[in-house]
Amino acid sequence: MAKNLEDITMVLKDELMSKHTSFKIGGKADYLALPRNVEELKEVLVWCKKTGTPYFVMGNGTNLLVKDKGIRGVVVKISDNFSDVSVEEDCIEAGAGILLSKLSRIALKHELSGMEGLSGIPGTLGGAVVMNAGAYGYEIKDIFVNCMVLNEDGNTEMFTKEKMNFGYRETVLQGSGKVVLSVKLKLNKGKYGDIKALMDDFTQRRQAKQPLSQPSAGSVFKRPAGYYAGKLIEDAGLKGYRIGDAQVSEKHAGFIVNLGNATADDVLKLIEHIKATVYEKFGVQLEPEVKIVGE
Ligand SMILES: Cc1cc2nc3c(=O)[nH]c(=O)nc-3n(C[C@H](O)[C@H](O)[C@H](O)COP(=O)(O)OP(=O)(O)OC[C@H]3O[C@@H](n4cnc5c(N)ncnc54)[C@H](O)[C@@H]3O)c2cc1C
Repeated sequence: MAKNLEDITMVLKDELMSKHTSFKIGGKADYLALPRNVEELKEVLVWCKKTGTPYFVMGNGTNLLVKDKGIRGVVVKISDNFSDVSVEEDCIEAGAGILLSKLSRIALKHELSGMEGLSGIPGTLGGAVVMNAGAYGYEIKDIFVNCMVLNEDGNTEMFTKEKMNFGYRETVLQGSGKVVLSVKLKLNKGKYGDIKALMDDFTQRRQAKQPLSQPSAGSVFKRPAGYYAGKLIEDAGLKGYRIGDAQVSEKHAGFIVNLGNATADDVLKLIEHIKATVYEKFGVQLEPEVKIVGE
């Protein structure tokens, strides 16, 4: 007989996903698994396969809109249990669960340049690789060498840059069921003071422009070719527009913020309203960057 999931790893049953997303929104996951190491993670994936249980992989939950009825099956959270780092010359190898902010500070300490623009992105390294996260002209793909992933059978595979098929906020790993375990990055030798100055500048720009004190999932929409989503939304007169407790940020119209008790339904309705209004006014189709999951 198959083991119980609780016998394999640390599991939270009927766990509210609003506790695990930067939006502070999301119904219950049947199970939230917090594997402590690769062996446990492997066993979880094999258990899911054996029992026909669906699973969803998450990092820090900063690009997720989890629907109000939650997620059936297992949510596998890759967090700081997977955050070992090794630095060799200008290469860094790190666990997928490390936060980009922490990794950027390690790069700074070693006078390695190339991730200054990524340092303020609040996700994990794994989430950044899967999303090809980027900001201020930096993208994770530019420093990516390869990553190790675990597939749904519990076997490891290496993904090179070519195999990742990086696009704008896109990679082959999205929705693939593969779990990023670790990532190798190649940076450039730089000077501590220069790297620090750039990081500080980007941090200040973020603080000035983004609603960082309110729950959100960052930019809701991808940048449409030739436009900025935030500018289109603002020009459509939607800054501050509100459905329930979901509001187009007063500070940055590309963000939707949770004013306190927003539901996923509020956010989804607001997304539809924004898309329809922007299309009607400017003929531009907005596409969500945020991953909408659950039921
Ligand atoms: C205030 C704020 C500012 C932001 N600014 C930026 C920005 O400037 N640029 C930008 O690109 N993004 C930005 N984001 C969005 C978000 O931080 C990034 O997309 C980030 O890379 C997501 O990482 P995460 O660990 O939170 O992933 P999650 O949100 O947990 O997951 C995102 C996707 O990655 C997958 N995933 C996560 N970890 C793994 C793993 N180990 N293996 C396999 N799949 C995995 C998930 O299944 C999901 O599809 C911002 C968000 C916020 C809240």
